[in-house]
Amino acid sequence: MKGLMMDYPLTLTHFFERCRRLFATKTLATRVPGSPLFRYTYADFCERTARLAGALEALGIKKGDRVGTFAWNSHRHLEIYWAAPLLGGVLHTVNIRLSPQDLTYIINHAGDTLLLVDQSLWPIIEPIRKDLKTVRHYLVMPDTAGPIPAGALDYEALLREASPVREWPQLDEDDACGMCYTSGTTGHPKGVVYSHRAIFVHCLAMCMTDSLGISERDVILHIVPMFHANAWCVPFGGVMVGATQIFGGPNPQPRDIAEMIQAEKVTFVGAVPTVWIAIKELVEKEGFDLSSIRCIPIGGSAAPRSLLELYEKKFGVRMTHAWGMTETSPLGTISRLKSYMEAWPDEQRFAVRAKQGYASVGVELRAVDEAGQEVPWDGKSMGELQVRGPWIVKAYYNNPEGAKQFTPDGWFRTGDVVTIDPEGYIQIADRTKDLIKSGGEWISSIDMESMLMAHPKVLEAAVIAVPHPKWVERPLACIVPRPEHKGLPDEVVFVEAIPKTGVGKFDKKVLREQFKAWQPKE
Ligand code: AMP
Repeated sequence: MKGLMMDYPLTLTHFFERCRRLFATKTLATRVPGSPLFRYTYADFCERTARLAGALEALGIKKGDRVGTFAWNSHRHLEIYWAAPLLGGVLHTVNIRLSPQDLTYIINHAGDTLLLVDQSLWPIIEPIRKDLKTVRHYLVMPDTAGPIPAGALDYEALLREASPVREWPQLDEDDACGMCYTSGTTGHPKGVVYSHRAIFVHCLAMCMTDSLGISERDVILHIVPMFHANAWCVPFGGVMVGATQIFGGPNPQPRDIAEMIQAEKVTFVGAVPTVWIAIKELVEKEGFDLSSIRCIPIGGSAAPRSLLELYEKKFGVRMTHAWGMTETSPLGTISRLKSYMEAWPDEQRFAVRAKQGYASVGVELRAVDEAGQEVPWDGKSMGELQVRGPWIVKAYYNNPEGAKQFTPDGWFRTGDVVTIDPEGYIQIADRTKDLIKSGGEWISSIDMESMLMAHPKVLEAAVIAVPHPKWVERPLACIVPRPEHKGLPDEVVFVEAIPKTGVGKFDKKVLREQFKAWQPKE
């Protein structure tokens, strides 16, 4: 039997209209350097989004048209996040940190018809304007003072004059709602196109209690750049549940982040590990209060176990390690302890939490070796992580060469090398390209980085492969000492043992002899 339930397209329109009716009085805010936060209500947000949609329509945006953004995190960015897809357009968030060549390639390849640019970022766009073949209009969002540049439209003026859209067009759930480019090591950046359905179900899964548990009660701080992987989909999920949302504004520094967490009693804030390393330094020195935080999703690169442990033990904040990619919208796995693991000793609990976690509901995963065989879930065998599910990319946009990222049986090849343990937790050993092959054995750079960063005198550590005459490759650790531990030796060598004198003291005479031909760095 089929067809006895209502067939309702899973589009963002439902989330937006529900939010408009239910959460009108709740707050959204943006950090404005040198001023108090700019604040308005969800009622304002919904009205301005409807006006922006009206303005976009008047500028000729039709279903399927790509609407580019080149912006910091702000309430205006959120307005476009919603206005473009609600109209049937495709929100294309462009990474503001790319080179002019990549920007030109991406905007032309996506075929953006309109580009919304923060005024503070206009100097990056202005010089490449002549090369952007498809952009018909530039809308400048006044995040700094000064006249709107010639040849661009004033976002705020357009909104004031626009007639708001009151009836949204009927959309199909598999219509595109967004896109984002991801840079590989070779070739041009590749475009990932998200459907309404993908984002809809992703938001539901992400807000489950067993996932990130985002709810109406949360105060969300957006630090992950909104141009990156839907900023982990939180700007969509936050509106879905009607949470209070604060946007980090232009180029937020660790101090800005710590201040906002403390002042706004933030409960939910995601960021990559390097941000949390910097904030840790500041909190240790100046004692910011982070106790309001309920959930810190941490990912983008491996979260060192020492960091998870320090935040929990010193600041009373539990981080949630997660893995994802632009191609996975981005939620893939989340490392939450299962209930019976809570009673495990610290050592074991943190070992689990430092893994990238088990698959979110909706995501299926496997690890496959070089011979194409699925490896066992034994926590030891390594293989390439492959995933599939309703919010995982099926093909790159207009990019035939990207087809090799997909297996003949319909899985996406992530390029991450993992083990999967019997409980289903994946642990990323490396990107395939970052693994170090020494004497035929794979060495994980991530393991070594985590170990090094656990050292109290080490701030950051990255391990790379360097050529070696005997072993083919050997790991080289690049280390940033914490500021108070400068004055370190220029170079460090690893030896089997330090030679000892007859009474067991270090025999530096022998060492000096051993290293007399040492070539110091320039
Ligand atoms: P992007 O598409 O730019 O978000 O990059 C995705 C890649 O970041 C993944 O394929 C991983 O290599 C890496 N990544 C994301 N989350 C984690 C994590 N928790 N641990 C280790 N690597 C991660």
